[in-house]
Amino acid sequence: VKKKASNYEKQAQPVKQTAVLGAGIMGGGIAYQSASKGTPILMKDIKDDAIELGLKEARKLFAKQVERNKLTTEQMAEKLTNIRPTLSYGDFGNVDLVVEAVVENPKVKDAVLTEVEGMVGENTILTSNTSTISINRLAQNLKRPENFCGMHFFNPVHRMPLVEVIRGEKTSDAAVAATVAYARAMGKTPIVVNDCPGFLVNRVLFPYFGGFSFLMEQGADFQHVDKVMEKFGWPMGPAYLLDVVGLDTAVHANEVMAEGFPERMAREGKTAIQVMYENDRLGQKNDKGFYAYE
Ligand code: NAD
Repeated sequence: VKKKASNYEKQAQPVKQTAVLGAGIMGGGIAYQSASKGTPILMKDIKDDAIELGLKEARKLFAKQVERNKLTTEQMAEKLTNIRPTLSYGDFGNVDLVVEAVVENPKVKDAVLTEVEGMVGENTILTSNTSTISINRLAQNLKRPENFCGMHFFNPVHRMPLVEVIRGEKTSDAAVAATVAYARAMGKTPIVVNDCPGFLVNRVLFPYFGGFSFLMEQGADFQHVDKVMEKFGWPMGPAYLLDVVGLDTAVHANEVMAEGFPERMAREGKTAIQVMYENDRLGQKNDKGFYAYE
């Protein structure tokens, strides 16, 4: 962390209209959060049913607020109008900031980012919600890499306060400032970090998962470890957290970290987490991980 996020905000251009690419788990959550805090957002996907799922998720989250008497049904209806679903780039000319949240595949992200760059204004800030792909790598094909940075939300977006704003080598202060300001307007806590494998949070989290995996390999009971870590004061233990993150996602992210920091992160042989993944125990996404889900 070089400069405090608050140092950038003084220079921020207003972010009045935003867009999210991808209406999946993260895209839907980002659209809800933006709409809920009053910043209009276009939600673009390539599939009608994906848009429907994203909208359904946003409606569900707003409905919960109504149930808890935090919103009236009229307020909910009004906030929902802040999300405009679309399958085209038609209205992207007026967008101040875009969050790319399509599948975690560098080729797809390259194609989507170059495509959207051609549809937005010269000053539009482009950001990516990638968890593992280098921001410098994604900036390579862009005409205006200075307008690009990472904007890494955590899942579930509406509950997790932190957003990592990731500065690439060519990212301008103005791009960081706008992204920090948008994160703040969404009610989040932004931190500014340099580009590196794992950014900041995963550099802390994955060595912890590695330690947990090592304990499993030595015969520890995962439920016992979870209980111990809860008593230690953490909201959930490592096995449960891995189920939330997804064992496939964890294995992939660990590979990226091992490539970036081989001395500290690479291990010989299979880890307990890899064995879980290879046995199709992916966590909550397929209802079976360390724990079984209905
Ligand atoms: P997801 O599979 O739920 O959603 C991806 C969506 O992108 C799908 O709806 C798909 O139709 C859409 N899509 C694919 N190509 C597209 C295109 N060309 N244009 C527009 N939409 C397109 O994925 P997700 O879990 O929401 O992850 C999205 C991104 O967020 C990934 O980069 C991932 O690494 C990152 N991320 C995920 C999590 C998590 O826990 N799920 C956490 C932090 C960051």
